[in-house]
Amino acid sequence: MQKGGRLTLVSTPIGNLGDISARAVEALERADLILCEDTRHSAKLLRHLNIATPTAAYHDHSDERARERYLGLLEQGQQLALISDAGTPLISDPGYKLVAQATQAGYQVTATPGPSAPIMALSISGLPSNRFLFEGFLPAKQVARHKALAGLKSLDATLLFFESGGRLGASLADMLAVLGERDAAVARELTKAYEEVVTGTLAQLSAKYASQENPPKGEIVVVVGPPIEQSVELDDETVTSAISTGLAEGERVKELASRLAEQFDLPKKDLYNRIQAIKDQGSA
Ligand code: SAM
Repeated sequence: MQKGGRLTLVSTPIGNLGDISARAVEALERADLILCEDTRHSAKLLRHLNIATPTAAYHDHSDERARERYLGLLEQGQQLALISDAGTPLISDPGYKLVAQATQAGYQVTATPGPSAPIMALSISGLPSNRFLFEGFLPAKQVARHKALAGLKSLDATLLFFESGGRLGASLADMLAVLGERDAAVARELTKAYEEVVTGTLAQLSAKYASQENPPKGEIVVVVGPPIEQSVELDDETVTSAISTGLAEGERVKELASRLAEQFDLPKKDLYNRIQAIKDQGSA
């Protein structure tokens, strides 16, 4: 059974103040204390909403004692709200340790969901939205950035990155170098007056943003589509003869598909279907 008070994660606007939800306002009004990533930053939003609830600072670097203090308030039955500077708490923002400890200790944790830049960027990018991975900020140093990108290369999913205008060109060039050519989108200043989504391939976008002189202004999410399926000529003579040889030697379809996928750098699934078709023809 859940005990004590409640911690509510409240999503706040990422640019347009009109995006605050009625439930978010209610949660902020009803809270005994609002924990803020930055109290001064959030004071502007709270003033705009006419909310006079007391605030206190919270970030994950806060020491264990601060967390214990807030868990103690939950124990007393208090209602705490957590907000970050913008968007949804915990999404590249503070809150994870507090939520983990509050959950573990058996307090109720809930949320008033709302704006989040990566989700908005994904949904309007025109790129596949069925499978995605949110990576947050890539490392600033190129070697570490290459390493991080190499770890994502084989994922069959759309990738979401936060990026600054100053580093956009370099990051897009690294994405092209490590991930290979893909469809992508640069989503900038979402929900604000100069909102824009520029789509293109990684080669096109890295060329567009290569100039260091006029880096794009504002806040940016980069959306990179999954690896582009190679259109493969599976009736190619070399491949067909390798399939026939493999089958004649008694290799199983699955193993043969894996081996030839590696050998010819072709998609395993396409090879599997092709091998199965040749095998079925042979046994018909
Ligand atoms: N928790 C936030 C959320 O849910 O959107 C994200 C916080 S993260 C520290 C801030 C980064 O999110 C920015 O550097 C930028 O990459 C991205 N971002 C935030 N607001 C944005 C906006 N309006 N348009 C585009 N990107 C935005």
